[in-house]
Amino acid sequence: MEKILNYIGGNLVEPSGLAYLDNVDPGRGKVYSKVPDSDQIDVEKAFAAASAAFQGWKNTPLETRCAILQRLADKIGENKEALALAEARDNGKPVSLAIHVDIPRAESNIRFFATAAMHWSSESHVMENEAINYTHRKPIGVVGCIAPWNLPLYLFTWKIAPALASGNCVIAKPSELTPMTAYLLAKLAIEAGLPAGVLNILHGLGPKVGDAIVKHPGIKAISFTGGTATGAYIAGTVAPMFKKVSLELGGKNANIIFADADFDEMLSTTLRSSFSNQGQICLCGSRILVEASIYDRFKEAFVHKVSQMKVGDPLLTATKMGAVVSEAHMQKVLGYIELAKQEGGTILCGGNRILLEGELADGYYIAPTVIEGLGPACRTNQEEIFGPVVTLQKFETEEEAIALANDTPYGLAATVWTSHVTKAHRVANELQTGIVWINCWLLRDLRTPFGGVKQSGVGREGGWEAMRFFTEPQNVCIKL
Ligand code: NDP
Repeated sequence: MEKILNYIGGNLVEPSGLAYLDNVDPGRGKVYSKVPDSDQIDVEKAFAAASAAFQGWKNTPLETRCAILQRLADKIGENKEALALAEARDNGKPVSLAIHVDIPRAESNIRFFATAAMHWSSESHVMENEAINYTHRKPIGVVGCIAPWNLPLYLFTWKIAPALASGNCVIAKPSELTPMTAYLLAKLAIEAGLPAGVLNILHGLGPKVGDAIVKHPGIKAISFTGGTATGAYIAGTVAPMFKKVSLELGGKNANIIFADADFDEMLSTTLRSSFSNQGQICLCGSRILVEASIYDRFKEAFVHKVSQMKVGDPLLTATKMGAVVSEAHMQKVLGYIELAKQEGGTILCGGNRILLEGELADGYYIAPTVIEGLGPACRTNQEEIFGPVVTLQKFETEEEAIALANDTPYGLAATVWTSHVTKAHRVANELQTGIVWINCWLLRDLRTPFGGVKQSGVGREGGWEAMRFFTEPQNVCIKL
């Protein structure tokens, strides 16, 4: 059985304790590889390698740094099929999604920040006849990047690319549920000629090796994407250590549909925003709010389409919906569906585990599920389920739609469907979220700030925001 290895100091190495965890293929419910159960000793080794590499990497000419990162991006592109297949097997997502979304995005994340570094400039502030200030931004040193399982290589590269491009050395941890593409990336980094120690990848459990990264006194910044409870714990841990921290956390996003929306386009996008990646995207619109005058029409059309969605083998190119990431996660999602029934909700379609045949018989499949009849205050409409489950709620007025949309502890993203341009801007302005999509979903320009408010996080990723996070400004004032 294949053994995944850590990547420390430019080498692929076993964990110091030689302990391994099972890595499960969720489409088949079977262990298919072993993943290092790394610990604090591995963090110390990675830190020593990263510290030793820092001066060299920081002082590497920008053109060279950019060229190495571009080579890494090239390698991702050249290995697109293999990476997509690995992602589908590790995560349960359809291979077609991995090949069209996850892996191309991983490649462009690296290209985007490699070139961003080439355009990064200092600011200058002149005090007439008195002084000139210049503010340059220095890399922080050794930084930690911790990524979740839902978009494994996509979010892993989204963090490490700006960290590396701005001159830091990185200790990164993917989720132990989906370690394979980070392991393959380590091999590609070696091929691309990334200097030893600049990027170190440690595999293992969040509360063990992840916690050791967070608590290491020499790691000066933590960029974390994951659940809100973990984010709260990390924030509490790093605050007294005065580390920089960026937290991209959960969501319970509203998809607001006004009666004047383009119905067909809204319907097809709403299918995607509800169930892409089995609903396991922090940006999915899990609360669908529909204007009363089109509620019945929408419900009928939507439920009809959802009932036709086929769940199948993630490794087949025709599959549009695969498995959820793990057995524990499947049980959590099914538990929420039971809760919705207890809270008085009506299951319009789905609501159950799907048992496929043959080698897929033990896989973790859930039928796409639509629920109605629940008020905004119930747990089903307040807590993040992070699976193929959406609820429908009806509204009469614009004010009611805004109030419903804002009525959660989360504030990551929202979608608004309307052909009334003024209303679109008015509603967007009132929404308490970091991101608003109008008549679209998941349309991403990598230059825009990405992140949420309330319990969806602290700070922003993307564009200059990420470059600023991974650098410390220093102002120099020269008296004239
Ligand atoms: P978790 O918070 O459980 O884990 C995220 C990462 O943190 C994993 O690598 C995990 O390791 C690690 N981790 C867990 N505990 C600790 C700890 N004590 N110290 C350090 N690291 C730790 O989230 P999930 O992996 O379950 O991801 C799903 C969540 O991520 C959802 O809530 C989703 O909304 C959110 N998310 C947010 C996004 C955003 O941009 N706002 C984007 C994508 C997802 P391990 O898995 O190995 O235990």
